[in-house]
Amino acid sequence: MIATMDISIIKAERSKLQDMNFDNLPFGRFFTDHMLEADYEGGEWKNIEIKPYQPLLLNPSVTALHYGQAIFEGIKAYKDSNGNPYIFRPYDNYRRFNISAERMQMPEIPEELFMEGLRQLISLDKNWIPQKHDYSLYIRPFMFASDEVIGVKPSEKYKFLIILSPTGPYYSAPMRIYVEEKYVRAVEGGVGYAKAAGNYGASMYATAQAKKKGYDQVLWTDAYEHKYVQECGMMNVFFIIGNKAITPDLTHGTILDGVTRQSTITLLKEMGYNIEERPLGIDEIIEAYKAGLLHEVFGTGTAATISLIKELRYKDFEMKFDVEKWKAGPTVKTWLIDIREGKREDKYGWMWKV
Ligand SMILES: *Cc1c(COP(=O)(O)O)cnc(C)c1O
Repeated sequence: MIATMDISIIKAERSKLQDMNFDNLPFGRFFTDHMLEADYEGGEWKNIEIKPYQPLLLNPSVTALHYGQAIFEGIKAYKDSNGNPYIFRPYDNYRRFNISAERMQMPEIPEELFMEGLRQLISLDKNWIPQKHDYSLYIRPFMFASDEVIGVKPSEKYKFLIILSPTGPYYSAPMRIYVEEKYVRAVEGGVGYAKAAGNYGASMYATAQAKKKGYDQVLWTDAYEHKYVQECGMMNVFFIIGNKAITPDLTHGTILDGVTRQSTITLLKEMGYNIEERPLGIDEIIEAYKAGLLHEVFGTGTAATISLIKELRYKDFEMKFDVEKWKAGPTVKTWLIDIREGKREDKYGWMWKV
């Protein structure tokens, strides 16, 4: 265990906050005054510091850059109407971080380092949490291998950091989606369930090909038959068919266990939908569409919360939707934002007071 006093704090001499224009906040571009940094060496976490946001000085041989032992998380902090800072479900991200770490043969992060580090860092930079509708402070914890040797083996040294970025409403226009049948994101036995940096790098080529064809993102399918849907880009995906909400199950290890996914399941249940977590084939989706039963398709994730899908293209078959009439996706989005901003009762205990 790490006692609270083991986190040393060096405050920035001057806050950059006064230079900020919160009306113009491109996602992930601006960072707060402070960051947390810790080193893993000799089997333990040490040098735990909160200090001014600054560049890292790295040796070119640092192993993460060569062999990709790198994982991350995405979390958001909000203010309620009284200006008190809260973080949305950070324990779920904490648990997932260690699941990713295990899969990448990286050390576990002790709960106190992650949670207490988060608490102290956010407390220090709480003025950076915009108190405006649908604004938040995006939290990016990450870990990477920092051995300075280019031999292929799990690194003995690691760095854990948390950086913070204020963000505005992430408006994503309803998306046009290409059902991917050539490239794959994840396969059973692979790293699909880990929030590993390399999953993102590996997805970019397919996404670029889809963009060339005029689509915003791909809908990933399974690696064997290209039949069962997995995720939409880097978001979990939901299909409303009749009064059922269907989302791919997590049992194959190919899907990221999204916190927004779990929250969406809970809220859709509250709205009266029957939830089915199970394999969902593209043939079933097309059948439902032809029968007029496919009412909504949307993606879920921390950055955008809910992204509506207005078009799905499978081979030569186009499925188009009138998102204006939708209920499930937009309602989940409104409820989530309201819970986060303290305007709707936090029945499920999702808001963690800093
Ligand atoms: C982060 C991520 C998600 C969304 O997870 P949330 O916890 O809801 O933000 C979904 N899919 C992939 C591949 C991801 O990396």
